[in-house]
Amino acid sequence: MEVCPSCSARIDMSTPLGGGEERPGPGDFTICLYCAALLRFNGADGFDLLTGPPEGADKRTRMTIAVARAFILFRKKREERGGGHGEG
Ligand SMILES: [Zn+2]
Repeated sequence: MEVCPSCSARIDMSTPLGGGEERPGPGDFTICLYCAALLRFNGADGFDLLTGPPEGADKRTRMTIAVARAFILFRKKREERGGGHGEG
């Protein structure tokens, strides 16, 4: 089982952004949907926590990461403020 090193949430799936290979491999990065931590598959049994954009990430990738993280953090903040109000 793979676990987020930042929030300990269980991560059992990932979705590729911008197409490409469907299965992530060592060195690929992902974003935790629970805490927005930037993670990299370490090829062993889990993830390394990244503190900045992955090396070699192009402008578009950096932008995608920024938008995705902002969305996750926004959603999280909203849920912490009382959530559960559903459609609104
Ligand atoms: Zn997390």
